[in-house]
Amino acid sequence: MGILDIFRKKPATAVDPVCHMTVEKESARATSEYEGETYYFCAPGCKHTFDEDPPKFIGADKPAVEM
Ligand SMILES: [Zn+2]
Repeated sequence: MGILDIFRKKPATAVDPVCHMTVEKESARATSEYEGETYYFCAPGCKHTFDEDPPKFIGADKPAVEM
């Protein structure tokens, strides 16, 4: 009932791979599946961007230099 419960409960969160916002899985505005993984987005626009080129966003280790 109080604010402490929010910290205790720790809702499942994921990081939006497009804008790097933390998104609660339950309230994600959009989700996308890619290679068996589910990705969560703060907005449909982020999902759309992701869907156009998923490897660009999930290959976080690689520098995104090439066009
Ligand atoms: Zn986003």
